[in-house]
Amino acid sequence: MAKLIDGKLISAQIRAEIKEETASFLKEKGYLPGLAVVIVGEDPASQVYVRNKKRACEEVGFYSEVHELPASTTQEELNALVDSLNANAKIHGILVQLPLPKHLDETEVLLRIDPAKDVDAFHPYNVGKIMIGDYDFLPCTPAGVMALLERSNIDPAGKKCVVIGRSNIVGKPMAMLLLHANGTVTVCHSRTRDLAAVCREADILVVAIGRADFVGADMVKEGAVVIDVGMNRRADGKLTGDVDFAAVEPIASAITPVPGGVGPMTITMLLKNTLTAARK
Ligand code: NAP
Repeated sequence: MAKLIDGKLISAQIRAEIKEETASFLKEKGYLPGLAVVIVGEDPASQVYVRNKKRACEEVGFYSEVHELPASTTQEELNALVDSLNANAKIHGILVQLPLPKHLDETEVLLRIDPAKDVDAFHPYNVGKIMIGDYDFLPCTPAGVMALLERSNIDPAGKKCVVIGRSNIVGKPMAMLLLHANGTVTVCHSRTRDLAAVCREADILVVAIGRADFVGADMVKEGAVVIDVGMNRRADGKLTGDVDFAAVEPIASAITPVPGGVGPMTITMLLKNTLTAARK
């Protein structure tokens, strides 16, 4: 039976540490770390994410602002808001919730965020810093995976690490962080030949595809560590990962559940990045 990597528990531990650090930060500096979250339109999933981020800020004692803009917001209006948040001394981190309505240019907005306040680490300046291994912020989900590994005493050094998925948000930075941690990294995608055989080589398998129960027992080596980043909604509304948990759990040495694995870590890493930004 695999060891369950409990993202809820690890996330709660890290948030408690951030709360303590925030209290000492306030004593030392006289102000709080501040996060601004911008949401445009009424996408229900985005609204839930934004509410959770606000609640997480309150939990650790941060100052936070949520800017809810109507779907009819123009590029100029959104740019102007980002400019004002860049200039606002109370705000150390800015997060624009994606996806934006189709008429808005996401790249233009992300490029406009001051890299020093880019707590999502999506700005090309921060992406480049991650590439060279000299970074201030790490993208929240891959950083969450690294924290889960570290706190479960799983060291990627020298191990064969396979990442399925090559998105800019998860797969690519995930591969880079595993490489920085001295893993031997392979990145797979929809054009990978004989995916199952490549995955069976993995000592650490990180799955970020977006397809429910895609990874079965035939894709996992006995004793592998399996990290499931996927978040998929079943027809009955239940959340499920990219890994067939029931099939893979008996083979793996450690595995993250969905929900309760990587998911809770993402916002926790956002808080960590905001504290880092405030310190700088
Ligand atoms: P994405 O941008 O859609 O990328 C999916 C990746 O999976 C692509 O690189 C794609 O390959 C690859 N892929 C798709 N089908 C495949 C197949 N049959 N075989 C091999 N590779 C395949 O998705 P994402 O943003 O990275 O997110 C991935 C999953 O993680 C989603 O379920 C998402 O909801 C979840 N997620 C969770 C969190 C969290 O906090 N837990 C955060 C972010 C994302 P190509 O490049 O060749 O198309």
